[in-house]
Amino acid sequence: MTEQTAKIESRCDGCGGILVRQVNQFIDRGQLWWDAEASCASCGVGWCESFESGKPPEVVRSALLAANGPSRLRVVGPAPNLVSVLKVLREVCEVPLPQARELADELIDAGLVGTLVEMEFLRTRLRGRGVAAEVSLAGQSAPGAAEV
Ligand SMILES: [Zn+2]
Repeated sequence: MTEQTAKIESRCDGCGGILVRQVNQFIDRGQLWWDAEASCASCGVGWCESFESGKPPEVVRSALLAANGPSRLRVVGPAPNLVSVLKVLREVCEVPLPQARELADELIDAGLVGTLVEMEFLRTRLRGRGVAAEVSLAGQSAPGAAEV
């Protein structure tokens, strides 16, 4: 199972200690999920904050990207069937056609960048429609320098 995790620290309302929110993103039963759990080591409070499917809120996403680094998904092999690519992008990203076209261009050209779990999820969906793509670490290399 592809999964990524990150920790977000804030101040505990109860005791003034450090409240740690652990956020996770994962794929389960063909769906993208995220959840968040908060706990304070000083006073022992803890609760499950959320457990939802789909794209996580920006604060969760940026924590995942900061902790694990971004990943890049790029179409490989022969030119893909654009209709299939657009279909997957519209389903997964829930965007209108013009935006899906822009994403498709990126996917085929320089590659789309997101969390590893999001890119793996998209890769699986593309493969389901016969489109081959590869996930790599976007890492420190300059944009466009990841040419193989
Ligand atoms: Zn506390």
